[in-house]
Amino acid sequence: MMAVPFRRTSKTRKRLRRTHFKLQVPGMVQCPNCGEWKLAHRVCKACGTYKGRDVVNK
Ligand SMILES: [Zn+2]
Repeated sequence: MMAVPFRRTSKTRKRLRRTHFKLQVPGMVQCPNCGEWKLAHRVCKACGTYKGRDVVNK
């Protein structure tokens, strides 16, 4: 048997709840080297480092 909600969530309530979804792009972390926002598990675009090592040849 499935639970039957006492009151159905209104369109407005549903939308209000979803306003909190995805306010920030997921997978964004601050670079530990320069503090710039970068994608997680990727080389930092600003300083070219990954896991504390300089991986981009300049
Ligand atoms: Zn960086």
